Amino acid sequence: MEALVVGAGVVGLAIARALALRGASVILAEEAEAIGTGVSARSSEVIHGGMYYPPGSLRARHCVEGRRRLVGFCESHGVPYRLCGKLIVATREEERPTLETIFSRGAENGVEDLNLLGRTEAVALEPALSCVAALHSPATGIVDSHALMLALLGDVEDAGGVLALRTPIESAARRAGRWHVRFGGAAPDELQVDGLVNAAGLGAQALARRIEGLALGSVPRQVLAKGSYFGCGGRSAFSRLIYPAPVEGGLGIHLTLDLAGRMRFGPDVEWVETPNYAVDPARAKNFEAAIRRYWPGLPDGRLVPDYAGIRPKLSGPGEPAADFRIDGPAEHGLPGFVQLFGIESPGLTASLSLAEAVADQLMA
Ligand SMILES: Cc1cc2nc3c(=O)[nH]c(=O)nc-3n(C[C@H](O)[C@H](O)[C@H](O)COP(=O)(O)OP(=O)(O)OC[C@H]3O[C@@H](n4cnc5c(N)ncnc54)[C@H](O)[C@@H]3O)c2cc1C
Repeated sequence: MEALVVGAGVVGLAIARALALRGASVILAEEAEAIGTGVSARSSEVIHGGMYYPPGSLRARHCVEGRRRLVGFCESHGVPYRLCGKLIVATREEERPTLETIFSRGAENGVEDLNLLGRTEAVALEPALSCVAALHSPATGIVDSHALMLALLGDVEDAGGVLALRTPIESAARRAGRWHVRFGGAAPDELQVDGLVNAAGLGAQALARRIEGLALGSVPRQVLAKGSYFGCGGRSAFSRLIYPAPVEGGLGIHLTLDLAGRMRFGPDVEWVETPNYAVDPARAKNFEAAIRRYWPGLPDGRLVPDYAGIRPKLSGPGEPAADFRIDGPAEHGLPGFVQLFGIESPGLTASLSLAEAVADQLMA
């Protein structure tokens, strides 16, 4: 089979790898000048455990399975990662039930190593912490997402796959049993493949609307939720990731650590119409207030604007969080075509599992 995967973010790379390892002849088309410059360049780089998501959802299933695959992949490919663990904290009594809900969701999702801790036990683990209770997830970790993407590309190329940078996919139509795909760039042309995957992240809906024969009603709306991050200089006060109880649209302004042990806080939730990546220094005030609930010792003026990412969501403010969507022939009726929508968090963690699901559909 000849397959074209659109989008060289972590998900498209993982899909291209899965297809190439199953013997497909793969082209991975990316409109940017390099891999991993889209949503994948701007995450928290957290390997999630899988306890937040409703049991039976694609997010739950692929997070748990993806985490297992991701840790194995990092081990076998020398990708830097660390299972530093994480505490989700209740800073007020009213938040305690939220921890209990996450705990039982985790159990239903197959996350077996969660522990509910009282204040004393939590503070024994993290002396700088302020909380009334915490949920400890020892299996949560951090990963060097750029090293991960390079390693995925290495596997694609070793299996004979080809990366085409600066290659925007413009449209596609199915004729005589094959996909005729038009691409732009320096030498615009058309190519034919048997299988086509739309893993274009923030560009997925726009591309879907240019697929001939795809019912426009099957393309979900896209909602953008920007998340800003602030860095925090000095030695880390914590050795684990610290998350507050989740908020609408996100997991709350949390502390993540990079592999060098530096502290980073974010992302908050700002609903936007178009992507923009500027971090407004004025947001530091809200960050300080949110962080001091669980870290009263945050020194004044320590936060520095860092970067921002955009979550490609399918649900907006006031709506229940939407699940990932993997639309194959059963959903849209077009053979040899799979598209992914709404791949926000935990898409990095889930990438290797999502890839298998897409390969199953395309190469069944
Ligand atoms: C703020 C934030 C924090 C997050 N934190 C975490 C986390 O800690 N852990 C976790 O598991 N997940 C996290 N996520 C989610 C995770 O980052 C994403 O789910 C994942 O990176 C999505 O990857 P992707 O390949 O689908 O998209 P992308 O990385 O955006 O890749 C899509 C690619 O398609 C290309 N493209 C678009 N249109 C075209 C076209 N027509 N032709 C050719 N190329 C095209 C784009 O240039 C882009 O490179 C976070 C996300 C955000 C926004």
